[in-house]
Amino acid sequence: MNIVNIIDKKRVGKDLTREELEHAFCGYLKKEIEDYQMSSLLMAICINGINDEEIINLTEIFINSGKTIDLSSIPGIKVDKHSTGGIGDKTTFVICPIVASCGVNILKMSGRGLGITGGTLDKLESIRGLNINLNKEEYMTELNDIGMAIISQTEDLVPLDKEIYALRDVTGTVSSVGLIAVSVMSKKIASGADKILIDLKLGKGALIKTQEEANELANIITKIGEKFNKETRVLITNMDNPLGKNIGNGLEVLEAIDTLKGDINNKFGRLCIELASNLVSMGKNITVGEAEILVIDSITSGNAYNKFLEFIKYQGGDIENIKLSNKKIEVESKKSGVLEDINAEIIGNISMDLGAGRQDKKDIIDHGVGIVINKEVGEKIELGETLCTLFVGEKVVDEEKVYKAFTVE
Ligand code: URA
Repeated sequence: MNIVNIIDKKRVGKDLTREELEHAFCGYLKKEIEDYQMSSLLMAICINGINDEEIINLTEIFINSGKTIDLSSIPGIKVDKHSTGGIGDKTTFVICPIVASCGVNILKMSGRGLGITGGTLDKLESIRGLNINLNKEEYMTELNDIGMAIISQTEDLVPLDKEIYALRDVTGTVSSVGLIAVSVMSKKIASGADKILIDLKLGKGALIKTQEEANELANIITKIGEKFNKETRVLITNMDNPLGKNIGNGLEVLEAIDTLKGDINNKFGRLCIELASNLVSMGKNITVGEAEILVIDSITSGNAYNKFLEFIKYQGGDIENIKLSNKKIEVESKKSGVLEDINAEIIGNISMDLGAGRQDKKDIIDHGVGIVINKEVGEKIELGETLCTLFVGEKVVDEEKVYKAFTVE
């Protein structure tokens, strides 16, 4: 088998056999296939697509590239969730404690951020002392003891995805529906949960920009779930505007805490309730409506917040010690009107400029910087009223760029 013939076959839009996919992708992991050859194949896949059979085969090849996690010794149905990524997405910190406090076990393996979408691990590390590098024995014990754990994805879980994702990121080949489905589902299936919830982000600040693409991705994700015997639900949720009011690592943890303490009558709070209700419904085999009652009760009773505190303590974190910059700049509205739009992409870029994210894997991030947005889209704002507050560190940000993120009409 020859890699050039395989690339050529995909270039003219033909389907690849399982053996051909194996030759290319396993060969790449073994460093027998060069970066430029894999880049070329990925681009051909992006342009000409891959069919359902190729996607299922590739998912299996990805899963088999590393070790899988066996959660069968933990009693009950184990659930997992994944978001395809957005600006200000801190739902994991809210959802996991809610779900665990409702009696459903959840092990969440997360990654770091690259580019404008932040990573769950970076956010968690704004809590001083918190250890995200737990070994198998440690996270299984935690899961048994408190019903949840949020940890770093282990090195041997789907190593092929790590290599391919890094290459996609720098070759303009991230936004292929087929490749996203393979990447997301291989990790979720290898992580050992019985049931999976995918929060598929759609909009200006997301990878997926059109309803058509979102439907296509939801469809293939569900098919992969069926094929691997994992009940999978996909919720398509809006990502035109940043999620919630705080963007930046430590700030996002603070917003998650407010939500767990009951601040849920806003778009972010409602999304958390929707996601958590679906997970509890899957974990307990009840309707989403029945699950929502349990979810709301877990918040109002304080059980969900107490579970969050339990989790932070278990992993060595100090909740009184969240990294936050004390240098603030208030940005005021230059006119009165209605806040018609907040551009998620620009907000993500401002957060990067402030130092909250990394352009390159080796960049060191500042956990204390970020943006607090004062109004939700659709709310009125007066001239001179605070539009947002910047939490700044060493880096400066152009205030004009900040204004560009907000449309007041
Ligand atoms: N999230 C992933 O894990 N993989 C993708 O390819 C896109 C979003």
